[in-house]
Amino acid sequence: METIDFMLTSWIDIPKNSDFPIYNIPLGIAKNKGSKIFAATAIGDYVLNLSTLHNLGFFKDIPLPANIFDREYLNDFVALGKPIWHSVRNRIKELLQSSNAELRDNKHALTESLYKMSDVELLMPIKIGDYTDFYSSKEHATNVGSMFRDPKNALLPNWLHLPVAYHGRASSIIVSGQNFHRPKGQVTPPGSDVPTFSPSKSLDFELEMAFIIGKSTGLGQYIPTKEAENHIFGMTLFNDWSARDIQRWEYVPLGPFLAKNFASTTSPWIISLEALEPFRTKAPGQNPKVLPYLKHSRDDSAFDITLEVWLQPERGEAIKLCTSNYKYLYWTMEQQLAHHTVNGCNINVGDLMASGTISGPTPDSFGSLLELTWSGKNPIPLPNGEQRKFLEDGDTVILKGYCQNEKGRIGFGEARATVLPSL
Ligand code: MN
Repeated sequence: METIDFMLTSWIDIPKNSDFPIYNIPLGIAKNKGSKIFAATAIGDYVLNLSTLHNLGFFKDIPLPANIFDREYLNDFVALGKPIWHSVRNRIKELLQSSNAELRDNKHALTESLYKMSDVELLMPIKIGDYTDFYSSKEHATNVGSMFRDPKNALLPNWLHLPVAYHGRASSIIVSGQNFHRPKGQVTPPGSDVPTFSPSKSLDFELEMAFIIGKSTGLGQYIPTKEAENHIFGMTLFNDWSARDIQRWEYVPLGPFLAKNFASTTSPWIISLEALEPFRTKAPGQNPKVLPYLKHSRDDSAFDITLEVWLQPERGEAIKLCTSNYKYLYWTMEQQLAHHTVNGCNINVGDLMASGTISGPTPDSFGSLLELTWSGKNPIPLPNGEQRKFLEDGDTVILKGYCQNEKGRIGFGEARATVLPSL
């Protein structure tokens, strides 16, 4: 199946390093000032209204329900299945190609469907059902284990045998651009067993990516690794905000709870695995050997996605805090999904599975402030003269991601939010 033709050009002027060239075609939900909600794709600095195009007959050869692109979320479209996602993607690419005049020369359709991205509001693309957060970066798990427990036995005995995860909370997942208040909770001073109640003093980000489930399973059904990608609609950037002081006190024995579930930020555009196909890469070697149900279905089940975290303080210049890569993850998506369902747990269209913090091998690739400042011991100097151990009120954290090879580039846009003072 042809997925990307890097030679394709569009009649829309696309800036050179745009995240959204004609071979990306992400999907999202948008709103124009005063307009109704619509499903959209991004092309260069523009947004294309798929609802309008559908009403005008541009998708007439694809069996789509009449109002499928007018809904509040993409879930009903996603549920139509992979052949439909593929047909819609190809049709959009066809309409945007330089050589195609259907939309380019249709003034009415263009005015009605093509907007500057800066003129629209990007909304939560998916009504998220269940949310699972993995813990799949060996570097991250090793760093955290070293800090919270013992550097000599940083990884617990199960870690190399299964993709560790916990069930998160979907209700507080927000879309890029939506800000949130610093959480409050029980915290204990170091060495004390008596908690006080206060706003978190160790608010952190977690650099993660997430995938959205595109095909459901029934209770009792298991997804083998080789089938896993057929159940994935696409990927987003994901910031799993974490209150480290609340986490340290509450997490034994059942794992994270209020330290994580006050907010998580997703990027608004969902990037398909078709668009990511040319950026496949070898997954890290695994030793000890995994159990048969977790065996990779192919050598290149990882994806080469460069990830960055930027901090914009309330005053002064932004600073890049780290550069990491999705390919560093020890456990891949197909292993995560095989493990998640091996006991018969069913999954549904719209479920979100996050990777866990993605840290790389070098200190400038660590995906959280906990690791970058080594639990506050090494504060980060900012261009404005301040320094950070953890996040301050007014700080904006911006996640970015892109794939680049010698032929082309696609990006994820950004996942951004500002920390507001606690209520
Ligand atoms: Mn996390």
